[in-house]
Amino acid sequence: MDLPAEDHFRALVESHPRAMMLATDEPRIIYVNRMFESITGYREAEVIGEKPAVLSAGFHGPAFYRDMWASLAEDGRWEGVIWNRRKNGETYPQWLMIHRVGQPDQTFYAGMFMDIGALTSFEERLASMAYYDALTELPNRTLFLELLEMRVSRSRDHDDPFGLLFLDLDYFKDINDLFGHSVGDELLRQVSLCIQGVVRKDDVVARLSGDEFAAIVELAPGVPQEPQIRQLAIRLLNAFRAPFLAGGNEHFISVSVGGVLCPVDGTSALDLLQKADKAMYLAKQEGRGRFCHYQAELLNDQDEGQRLMKALVTSLKTAPREFSVVYQPQFDLATGRVDGLEALIRWAHPEFGPVSPARFVAMAESRGMIHQLTEHLVRCILRDLWSLEKPPEPGLRFAINVSARQITDARLDGLLTPLFEQIRRLGWEPELEITETHLMNLSEEAFERLRSLRDEGVRIAIDDFGTGYSSLAYLHSLPVQTIKIDRHFVSCLEDTLPVEDRDRVISAILALADVFGLEAIAEGIETLQQKNALLALACKRGQGYFLARPQPWNSDLLTLNQQR
Ligand code: C2E
Ligand code: MG
Ligand code: MG
Repeated sequence: MDLPAEDHFRALVESHPRAMMLATDEPRIIYVNRMFESITGYREAEVIGEKPAVLSAGFHGPAFYRDMWASLAEDGRWEGVIWNRRKNGETYPQWLMIHRVGQPDQTFYAGMFMDIGALTSFEERLASMAYYDALTELPNRTLFLELLEMRVSRSRDHDDPFGLLFLDLDYFKDINDLFGHSVGDELLRQVSLCIQGVVRKDDVVARLSGDEFAAIVELAPGVPQEPQIRQLAIRLLNAFRAPFLAGGNEHFISVSVGGVLCPVDGTSALDLLQKADKAMYLAKQEGRGRFCHYQAELLNDQDEGQRLMKALVTSLKTAPREFSVVYQPQFDLATGRVDGLEALIRWAHPEFGPVSPARFVAMAESRGMIHQLTEHLVRCILRDLWSLEKPPEPGLRFAINVSARQITDARLDGLLTPLFEQIRRLGWEPELEITETHLMNLSEEAFERLRSLRDEGVRIAIDDFGTGYSSLAYLHSLPVQTIKIDRHFVSCLEDTLPVEDRDRVISAILALADVFGLEAIAEGIETLQQKNALLALACKRGQGYFLARPQPWNSDLLTLNQQR
């Protein structure tokens, strides 16, 4: 691919959401972008040619700058909080990153910063280090509780409700274990900036401990409160989809968020914090990377969750008959012919009834029993495939879902080999679907395993594409042949968005698939309108309730060729 022209780079930098500045080593400012102008209040013409010191608030002594220059000279970079003064005289803390950019004949310094807002004055901060977390410079638990108490009494005295969010990073311990604490620390710093970037300036963000954060969230008056806090939580979850950079690597972290409203859900600081914590815990149980609002019934559900978990463990060990498999046909959209099947596991418990795999697959994973689950899946599929009397049309895809955590499990081969043999005997092609979010965090060993599976003729598909955050470089190096466009984007083809935006994401994904030579299939087609829109965008394959629902094995599955 050709690199974009220089003016594209310039446009990118101009409109970048972080303030950027380039200085010579004299040092004199030679470039600033638009965000620089809006944070500092200086126009480009007023600072070009000036020393960066014009921005200084005068708070930091010579030793501070000596250290900064020393680390620039030594490591080529410096990063930290620095207090500067806007043109209107106001001082503010910014998170600043400076990189030395060496050119053959001259050295430049590229600075990138964001306004991280001030909760209290600088002096106050310094005076009360016991109240701040040294790593992120956010208020710590002690201060947060004080602020929360103050906010609760304001809510009581002035009838001024607010929201409280409790955030806990998912699988953060793995990052510390795998990459070491300095990468972990760096990530926590970035996470804190990310959270602050999403909430409003007046909201208070704190680091409570380890990987736990909380935020006091101001609400707009006269607007229903629950949707406000939910929407903010969703914005936070979305912000976490972008990778965090630390230790020279991209890291994908998700966060589980619990929320409460004051005074609806509680009227004391401690009670609110505990309830938000419980709601967060439920978000974890429901599969992580999501938001839960506290409800008293949730506590009972929590018990239910635990009972369900126990039941699953017992059933996996002792009740094979509770597990079954259904198949959802996949279609060639233009001809309407079935060209693939996706196997989906089902579990029906005598007490709980049918349970969604979206729920119990995650439970089996968390209890280390996903292998047993796949055993049941493969057993059920093989029984169905053996019952086929005459071999159907060749060339069909036969897809199963596997959990990313299983890929390096030595026992997986023992399950897949007989299944794939049977699939090939029927003249079909086996395919493994792996969810995008998981694929992004695979180890090198897991990639090796996927590569060798691909080399043995197994197709690899990225499931729920668009819900994780695939970097282009990554996509290029993955051993995948198929991307499955998540049904969320397909549902957007309907009327939730302005007409011109409806098919943008899908067009972009299809173009991406094209560039990387991947096959694309759309999931969750529920209406004729969606199917036609996909056809118009030249999306060749699809599946969804409109075309055919997942169903038990039957002789019509492959001849469903829809006339719709
Ligand atoms: P998935 O692999 O993305 O599967 C597609 C899900 O969307 C299925 O839900 C399917 O029933 C549903 N679906 C299909 N068409 C439509 C539609 O038009 N509209 C809507 N709203 N939904 C549609 P299901 O079977 O509940 O599975 C949920 C998830 O559970 C799967 O998502 C997959 O990630 C996981 N899963 C299912 N079976 C297995 C399995 O055998 N092993 C593993 N590891 N995971 C599985
Ligand atoms: Mg799937
Ligand atoms: Mg999917």
